[in-house]
Amino acid sequence: MHYLKLRIRGTKKSKVRDKISIFAQKFNLMLLSEIEIFKKKNKYPDFKPKAIFFDMDGVLFDSMKFHASSWLKAMLQVGLPFTETEAYMNEGRTGASTIDNVFVAVRGRNATEKEKKEIYKIKSTHFEACGKIERMPFALELLQKIKAENKDIFVVTGSGQPSLIDSLQENFPDIFKKEKMVTAFDVTNGKPHPEPYLKALKKSGLQPWEVVVIENAPLGVESANAAGLFTIAVNTGPLNPEVLSNSGANLVLKDMEDLYVKWDKLF
Ligand code: MG
Repeated sequence: MHYLKLRIRGTKKSKVRDKISIFAQKFNLMLLSEIEIFKKKNKYPDFKPKAIFFDMDGVLFDSMKFHASSWLKAMLQVGLPFTETEAYMNEGRTGASTIDNVFVAVRGRNATEKEKKEIYKIKSTHFEACGKIERMPFALELLQKIKAENKDIFVVTGSGQPSLIDSLQENFPDIFKKEKMVTAFDVTNGKPHPEPYLKALKKSGLQPWEVVVIENAPLGVESANAAGLFTIAVNTGPLNPEVLSNSGANLVLKDMEDLYVKWDKLF
Protein backbone atom coordinates (compact mmCIF):
# COMPACT_ATOMS: atom_id res chain seq x y z
CA MET A 1 0.00 0.00 0.00
CA HIS A 2 2.72 2.35 1.08
CA TYR A 3 4.65 1.68 -2.14
CA LEU A 4 1.53 2.27 -4.24
CA LYS A 5 0.84 5.56 -2.49
CA LEU A 6 4.38 6.76 -3.17
CA ARG A 7 4.15 5.72 -6.79
CA ILE A 8 0.87 7.62 -7.26
CA ARG A 9 2.35 10.64 -5.58
CA GLY A 10 5.42 10.39 -7.83
CA THR A 11 3.22 10.17 -10.94
CA LYS A 12 1.26 13.22 -9.89
CA LYS A 13 4.45 15.18 -9.30
CA SER A 14 5.92 14.26 -12.66
CA LYS A 15 2.65 15.19 -14.38
CA VAL A 16 2.82 18.63 -12.73
CA ARG A 17 6.47 18.90 -13.80
CA ASP A 18 5.51 18.00 -17.38
CA LYS A 19 2.76 20.59 -17.37
CA ILE A 20 5.17 23.27 -16.11
CA SER A 21 7.72 22.33 -18.74
CA ILE A 22 5.08 22.44 -21.53
CA PHE A 23 4.02 25.86 -20.25
CA ALA A 24 7.67 27.05 -20.21
CA GLN A 25 8.19 25.78 -23.78
CA LYS A 26 5.02 27.51 -24.97
CA PHE A 27 6.13 30.72 -23.29
CA ASN A 28 9.58 30.55 -24.89
CA LEU A 29 8.08 29.96 -28.34
CA MET A 30 5.64 32.84 -27.86
CA LEU A 31 8.47 35.14 -26.76
CA LEU A 32 10.67 34.17 -29.71
CA SER A 33 7.82 34.85 -32.12
CA GLU A 34 7.10 38.24 -30.45
CA ILE A 35 10.79 39.19 -30.82
CA GLU A 36 10.74 38.20 -34.51
CA ILE A 37 7.56 40.25 -35.11
CA PHE A 38 9.13 43.21 -33.28
CA LYS A 39 12.36 43.03 -35.33
CA LYS A 40 10.49 42.70 -38.60
CA LYS A 41 8.02 45.51 -37.85
CA ASN A 42 10.80 47.95 -36.94
CA LYS A 43 13.30 46.62 -39.52
CA TYR A 44 15.91 46.02 -36.79
CA PRO A 45 18.94 43.88 -37.61
CA ASP A 46 19.10 42.38 -34.13
CA PHE A 47 17.62 42.28 -30.62
CA LYS A 48 20.17 42.26 -27.78
CA PRO A 49 19.00 44.07 -24.63
CA LYS A 50 21.81 45.93 -22.87
CA ALA A 51 19.61 48.32 -20.87
CA ILE A 52 16.24 48.15 -19.16
CA PHE A 53 14.10 51.30 -18.94
CA PHE A 54 11.72 51.25 -15.98
CA ASP A 55 8.60 53.31 -15.56
CA MET A 56 8.18 54.27 -11.89
CA ASP A 57 4.55 54.48 -10.64
CA GLY A 58 2.88 51.09 -10.73
CA VAL A 59 6.16 49.38 -11.66
CA LEU A 60 8.78 50.24 -9.03
CA PHE A 61 6.38 51.71 -6.48
CA ASP A 62 2.94 50.49 -5.48
CA SER A 63 1.74 54.09 -5.80
CA MET A 64 -0.98 53.96 -8.45
CA LYS A 65 -3.75 53.10 -5.97
CA PHE A 66 -2.89 56.36 -4.13
CA HIS A 67 -2.78 58.40 -7.36
CA ALA A 68 -6.15 56.95 -8.41
CA SER A 69 -7.89 57.61 -5.08
CA SER A 70 -6.42 61.17 -4.91
CA TRP A 71 -7.72 61.93 -8.42
CA LEU A 72 -11.15 60.59 -7.51
CA LYS A 73 -11.34 62.72 -4.33
CA ALA A 74 -10.11 65.88 -6.10
CA MET A 75 -12.53 65.54 -9.02
CA LEU A 76 -15.44 64.81 -6.66
CA GLN A 77 -14.54 67.93 -4.67
CA VAL A 78 -14.93 70.13 -7.76
CA GLY A 79 -18.01 68.29 -9.01
CA LEU A 80 -16.46 66.39 -11.91
CA PRO A 81 -17.33 62.71 -12.45
CA PHE A 82 -14.26 60.48 -12.55
CA THR A 83 -13.77 56.74 -12.14
CA GLU A 84 -10.93 54.50 -10.96
CA THR A 85 -10.62 53.04 -14.47
CA GLU A 86 -10.24 56.56 -15.89
CA ALA A 87 -7.46 57.25 -13.40
CA TYR A 88 -5.58 54.13 -14.58
CA MET A 89 -6.28 54.83 -18.25
CA ASN A 90 -4.89 58.37 -17.88
CA GLU A 91 -1.79 57.26 -15.97
CA GLY A 92 1.35 58.76 -17.46
CA ARG A 93 -0.40 61.91 -18.66
CA THR A 94 0.55 65.18 -16.98
CA GLY A 95 -1.91 66.35 -14.32
CA ALA A 96 -2.89 69.37 -16.45
CA SER A 97 -3.68 67.16 -19.43
CA THR A 98 -5.80 64.77 -17.32
CA ILE A 99 -7.83 67.69 -15.94
CA ASP A 100 -8.21 69.18 -19.42
CA ASN A 101 -9.53 65.87 -20.82
CA VAL A 102 -12.20 65.66 -18.10
CA PHE A 103 -13.24 69.28 -18.71
CA VAL A 104 -13.62 68.69 -22.44
CA ALA A 105 -15.67 65.51 -21.86
CA VAL A 106 -17.90 66.89 -19.10
CA ARG A 107 -18.12 70.65 -19.67
CA GLY A 108 -17.37 70.77 -23.38
CA ARG A 109 -14.45 73.20 -22.95
CA ASN A 110 -10.80 73.21 -21.90
CA ALA A 111 -9.90 73.94 -18.28
CA THR A 112 -8.36 77.34 -17.60
CA GLU A 113 -4.80 77.52 -16.26
CA LYS A 114 -6.26 78.58 -12.89
CA GLU A 115 -8.62 75.60 -12.77
CA LYS A 116 -5.82 73.19 -13.72
CA LYS A 117 -3.56 74.57 -10.99
CA GLU A 118 -6.30 74.49 -8.34
CA ILE A 119 -7.45 70.92 -9.07
CA TYR A 120 -3.90 69.59 -9.33
CA LYS A 121 -3.10 71.22 -5.99
CA ILE A 122 -6.09 69.45 -4.38
CA LYS A 123 -4.99 66.14 -5.94
CA SER A 124 -1.40 66.61 -4.69
CA THR A 125 -2.64 67.38 -1.16
CA HIS A 126 -4.68 64.15 -1.10
CA PHE A 127 -1.72 62.22 -2.54
CA GLU A 128 0.68 63.52 0.10
CA ALA A 129 -1.80 62.50 2.83
CA CYS A 130 -1.78 58.88 1.58
CA GLY A 131 1.28 58.10 3.68
CA LYS A 132 4.34 56.01 2.89
CA ILE A 133 4.50 54.52 -0.55
CA GLU A 134 5.77 50.96 -0.62
CA ARG A 135 8.09 49.32 -3.10
CA MET A 136 6.30 47.11 -5.61
CA PRO A 137 6.84 43.49 -4.47
CA PHE A 138 9.78 41.89 -6.34
CA ALA A 139 10.94 45.22 -7.86
CA LEU A 140 14.14 45.32 -5.77
CA GLU A 141 14.92 41.63 -6.39
CA LEU A 142 14.49 42.13 -10.15
CA LEU A 143 16.67 45.26 -10.19
CA GLN A 144 19.42 43.45 -8.27
CA LYS A 145 19.27 40.59 -10.75
CA ILE A 146 19.57 43.01 -13.71
CA LYS A 147 22.44 44.86 -12.04
CA ALA A 148 24.26 41.55 -11.54
CA GLU A 149 23.82 40.90 -15.29
CA ASN A 150 25.66 44.21 -15.91
CA LYS A 151 22.74 45.67 -17.82
CA ASP A 152 22.12 49.40 -17.60
CA ILE A 153 19.09 50.58 -15.60
CA PHE A 154 17.11 53.76 -16.38
CA VAL A 155 13.97 55.33 -14.90
CA VAL A 156 11.57 57.01 -17.32
CA THR A 157 8.70 58.60 -15.45
CA GLY A 158 6.07 61.26 -16.00
CA SER A 159 6.20 61.97 -12.28
CA GLY A 160 7.26 65.37 -11.08
CA GLN A 161 6.95 64.55 -7.37
CA PRO A 162 10.41 65.39 -6.02
CA SER A 163 9.85 63.27 -2.89
CA LEU A 164 9.12 60.16 -4.95
CA ILE A 165 12.19 60.59 -7.10
CA ASP A 166 14.36 61.03 -4.01
CA SER A 167 12.86 57.95 -2.43
CA LEU A 168 14.12 55.86 -5.38
CA GLN A 169 17.61 56.18 -3.87
CA GLU A 170 16.29 55.30 -0.43
CA ASN A 171 14.22 52.27 -1.54
CA PHE A 172 16.61 50.90 -4.14
CA PRO A 173 20.10 51.67 -2.80
CA ASP A 174 22.98 51.63 -5.33
CA ILE A 175 20.67 50.92 -8.27
CA PHE A 176 19.77 54.28 -9.80
CA LYS A 177 21.95 57.18 -10.92
CA LYS A 178 20.66 60.72 -11.40
CA GLU A 179 22.08 60.89 -14.93
CA LYS A 180 20.10 57.76 -15.84
CA MET A 181 16.69 59.26 -15.14
CA VAL A 182 14.14 61.02 -17.32
CA THR A 183 11.40 62.74 -15.31
CA ALA A 184 8.60 65.26 -15.90
CA PHE A 185 11.25 68.00 -15.57
CA ASP A 186 13.22 66.75 -18.61
CA VAL A 187 10.53 66.68 -21.30
CA THR A 188 8.22 69.03 -23.17
CA ASN A 189 5.79 66.27 -24.17
CA GLY A 190 4.84 63.62 -21.64
CA LYS A 191 3.65 60.06 -22.32
CA PRO A 192 1.97 58.88 -24.61
CA HIS A 193 4.35 61.03 -26.73
CA PRO A 194 7.56 59.09 -27.43
CA GLU A 195 9.78 61.96 -26.16
CA PRO A 196 10.47 60.53 -22.65
CA TYR A 197 11.67 57.18 -24.01
CA LEU A 198 13.55 58.76 -26.93
CA LYS A 199 15.34 61.01 -24.44
CA ALA A 200 16.32 58.00 -22.31
CA LEU A 201 17.52 56.20 -25.44
CA LYS A 202 19.71 59.17 -26.34
CA LYS A 203 21.12 59.28 -22.79
CA SER A 204 21.93 55.56 -22.95
CA GLY A 205 23.83 55.88 -26.23
CA LEU A 206 22.28 52.56 -27.31
CA GLN A 207 20.35 51.44 -30.36
CA PRO A 208 16.58 50.89 -29.98
CA TRP A 209 17.02 47.10 -30.37
CA GLU A 210 19.32 47.10 -27.32
CA VAL A 211 16.63 48.28 -24.89
CA VAL A 212 13.64 46.77 -23.10
CA VAL A 213 10.94 48.87 -21.42
CA ILE A 214 8.93 47.81 -18.36
CA GLU A 215 5.60 49.68 -18.15
CA ASN A 216 2.24 49.24 -16.44
CA ALA A 217 0.06 51.90 -18.07
CA PRO A 218 -1.56 51.97 -21.53
CA LEU A 219 -0.21 55.47 -22.29
CA GLY A 220 3.27 54.48 -21.11
CA VAL A 221 3.17 51.43 -23.38
CA GLU A 222 2.06 53.68 -26.27
CA SER A 223 4.96 56.05 -25.60
CA ALA A 224 7.58 53.26 -25.52
CA ASN A 225 6.05 51.60 -28.57
CA ALA A 226 6.12 54.88 -30.51
CA ALA A 227 9.81 55.20 -29.59
CA GLY A 228 10.35 51.79 -31.26
CA LEU A 229 11.26 49.92 -28.07
CA PHE A 230 10.39 46.36 -27.01
CA THR A 231 7.84 46.78 -24.23
CA ILE A 232 6.85 44.41 -21.45
CA ALA A 233 3.68 45.44 -19.61
CA VAL A 234 3.16 44.34 -16.02
CA ASN A 235 -0.54 44.58 -15.27
CA THR A 236 -0.27 45.71 -11.65
CA GLY A 237 -3.58 47.64 -11.71
CA PRO A 238 -7.25 46.75 -12.29
CA LEU A 239 -7.23 47.04 -16.11
CA ASN A 240 -8.04 44.22 -18.49
CA PRO A 241 -4.71 42.84 -19.87
CA GLU A 242 -6.06 43.31 -23.41
CA VAL A 243 -5.96 47.09 -22.89
CA LEU A 244 -2.18 46.80 -22.54
CA SER A 245 -1.67 44.54 -25.56
CA ASN A 246 -3.92 46.82 -27.63
CA SER A 247 -1.70 49.76 -26.62
CA GLY A 248 1.23 47.95 -28.25
CA ALA A 249 2.84 45.90 -25.47
CA ASN A 250 4.99 43.11 -26.92
CA LEU A 251 4.41 41.01 -23.84
CA VAL A 252 1.87 41.35 -21.00
CA LEU A 253 2.68 39.76 -17.65
CA LYS A 254 0.63 39.54 -14.46
CA ASP A 255 2.83 41.60 -12.17
CA MET A 256 6.45 42.21 -11.11
CA GLU A 257 6.67 38.80 -9.42
CA ASP A 258 5.69 37.15 -12.71
CA LEU A 259 8.37 39.20 -14.48
CA TYR A 260 10.98 38.30 -11.83
CA VAL A 261 10.18 34.59 -12.07
CA LYS A 262 10.33 34.61 -15.90
CA TRP A 263 13.31 36.99 -16.20
CA ASP A 264 15.97 34.33 -16.74
CA LYS A 265 13.97 32.90 -19.64
CA LEU A 266 13.48 36.31 -21.22
CA PHE A 267 16.81 37.70 -22.42
MG1 MG B 1 3.29 53.66 -14.44
